[in-house]
Amino acid sequence: MAPAIFSALAFVASIQAGPTDSSQLVTREAWVMGTRLSVIVEATSLADASQASENVIREVERLERMLSTWDPQSEMHAINTAEVGQPVTPAPELAALLTEAERYSRTSHAAFDARVGALVDAWDLRGAGDVPAARELLAARNATGAGAMSIDERTGVVVRHMPAAWIDTGGFGKGAALRAAARRLEADGVDRALIDLGGQLWAQGSAQKPWSVYIAHPEQRQRRVARLEVHGVSVATSGTSERFIEAEGMRWGHILDPRTGQPAPAWGSVTVVSADPVEADALATALYVMGPQEGRAWAARHPEVDALFLEAESGALAASWTGGMEQWLVDAPVPSTAPAQAPTQQVDTARIAALERRIEAVTRELERLQLGRDVVEADSSIQGLGPAASKVYRVNQGVSLGGYGEFLYQNFAAQRQDGSRSGALNKFDALRAILYVGYKFNDRLIFNSELEIEHAKESFLEFAYLDYLLSDHVGVRGGMLLAPLGLVNELHEPPVFLGTERPVTENRIIPTTWRENGIGLFGSGDAFSWRLYLMNSFDGAKFSAAGLRGGRQKGSKALAEDMGVAGRFDYTGTPGLLLGLSAYSGETAQGQELGGQSVGGRVRIWDAHFDYKTRGWDLRALVAGAQVSDVADMNALIGLEGAEGIGTDMLGWYVQAGYDVLRTSRSPHQLIPYVRYERVNTQRGVASGFSANPATDLTVTSIGAAWRPISQAILKLDYQIHSTAADTGVNQLNASLGWLF
Ligand code: ADP
Ligand code: MG
Repeated sequence: MAPAIFSALAFVASIQAGPTDSSQLVTREAWVMGTRLSVIVEATSLADASQASENVIREVERLERMLSTWDPQSEMHAINTAEVGQPVTPAPELAALLTEAERYSRTSHAAFDARVGALVDAWDLRGAGDVPAARELLAARNATGAGAMSIDERTGVVVRHMPAAWIDTGGFGKGAALRAAARRLEADGVDRALIDLGGQLWAQGSAQKPWSVYIAHPEQRQRRVARLEVHGVSVATSGTSERFIEAEGMRWGHILDPRTGQPAPAWGSVTVVSADPVEADALATALYVMGPQEGRAWAARHPEVDALFLEAESGALAASWTGGMEQWLVDAPVPSTAPAQAPTQQVDTARIAALERRIEAVTRELERLQLGRDVVEADSSIQGLGPAASKVYRVNQGVSLGGYGEFLYQNFAAQRQDGSRSGALNKFDALRAILYVGYKFNDRLIFNSELEIEHAKESFLEFAYLDYLLSDHVGVRGGMLLAPLGLVNELHEPPVFLGTERPVTENRIIPTTWRENGIGLFGSGDAFSWRLYLMNSFDGAKFSAAGLRGGRQKGSKALAEDMGVAGRFDYTGTPGLLLGLSAYSGETAQGQELGGQSVGGRVRIWDAHFDYKTRGWDLRALVAGAQVSDVADMNALIGLEGAEGIGTDMLGWYVQAGYDVLRTSRSPHQLIPYVRYERVNTQRGVASGFSANPATDLTVTSIGAAWRPISQAILKLDYQIHSTAADTGVNQLNASLGWLF
């Protein structure tokens, strides 16, 4: 945080009513985070009020120690100076804040982006200010934003890609400190307090005794133009009137537009009121960068955001606000007009302004083309999809390309478990190479697809769907969908998972890659995500003793007599953790009859899964089961007999652990030894009159290591010990090469 730049953009706060007879009031001031902190606390005793105000100051100081980009001891400083290419996992509190910052950067389409450090340097915003030369500005823009530094929106893991890139916490730091301080007040049982941290406020109170907050004129700070009455919320204002640098005879604000590399023009101010101080802070900055038109349009698409726009131009003031703002606004701003100008002068000014806008637009377009800045790195997972499949959600608009693939070499043991000849021949397979093609029509409508070539010659459509986002949190989806079960089916890009081969449970019971035509809903909140689909069911006539895999219709002229329902729910509230359940149910006979009677063949699949990546550890566990009804009829339909029948009950589970042994080294590489232990039985139960083949009761232990020079490429090597209840297991040594982009 800047030490010497002052703020207090817009606020004068006053107490609506004095303390009640029984309560005591304490006011404290301190200099923290490079700005003035003032705290007013009302409590039943002077000692309590004094202690609570002290606690607030301590809490803001704690956040400063964590977030300061100046202090070489801070955690943020360590992240900002980490070696290029080296992933850094912040401690949980900071990781959570960074995932939030990343979310605001995504939802604001990078109007807010904390990764503006290189631009702050280029414009010397922490010094006297300097207008960078074109080349310098180009370099700084290259070292800005998602291409220069990735923040995983799920885990908060940060990777610097450019030496000049760093995160400036100035855009959300005050919000973070106010949130922590407000929690502290809550814990101390304080009912009424006001914290003013350099102009952003937290107002603790009740509807009976709210706080009055005045909003200042963006150009004439001493003029109060609006009054709010607030409680239980934070009020943040962003503008350029107070904090600026002067260079080349011009005034430049301290808020940068990461999309152009230019300081945002001085047009007025934006005030955001929110129960979440971090949201208020980040969105005030984001809306200011967008400017009044784009900002209002954005706010209209996010009706939950309460915002007030003040536009000031040479003495004139225009105000507009969102519907939600009305609940706080007691005295609304009154628009005023500018002193009259001579008519010709007016025309000239308007023409010059129009020309300036056109030059600005052309410059932006040129720079964008030169830099190819629309390149989005495949480095974060969205909506449960793999990093490469998630790219289309992050482009601004238009075409998105991505891909992944893997080669697999398998060397089989000469002997089976029982000592007999295995006869298995070694294989080297171009297992799959795929291309993601997506198109973002606009912020709401997105097309995404995966085109795959397997074994160098079979081509498949693996998924192809249209998403329509109803809000930031819920969308509808239709087309060919990945069934949302287990861990691997939706996250099947090889660099993402350990093990050369996908777990057997997620091959025979959850038949990865399992995709069918369907429609559904998907959504997410701060700490969870979910999906619910209606899909084409399996073709049960293709099931076997080895499980459900053969029954996938893969969207190809799929029989649609029977449909199924698939859903999942995941908790994602802890960075790095994915914990959830999924289930599927559908009949599968697809209209086939036996002796004139229709058959059901209902399949139910369920799973519970756990995936946790923390401090170099990569831990996974999954249990999945399936139950099939009318199996005797199904067997009769297909002509299966004896031990060849479909299981009525299937169960599989595995546990897996890997650890990056290079985590503490200075190398950007990862070297991850891992083990996986798995048990699968696809004939745990069989229909009466049938027997189970002991060869379907399988145990696989894999021991190996993965090497990731960067997060998008992997080389894996492992040895798998296979044993079955019939002693038919054949061990194998595997090597695989995988990539995604
Ligand atoms: P203040 O700190 O005065 O309350 P803001 O909340 O608007 O103002 O934050 C501005 C600060 O955020 C800048 O000083 C800088 O450190 C950082 N910043 C500048 N531009 C951006 C941006 N587009 N996105 C995120 N942070 C930014
Ligand atoms: Mg802000």
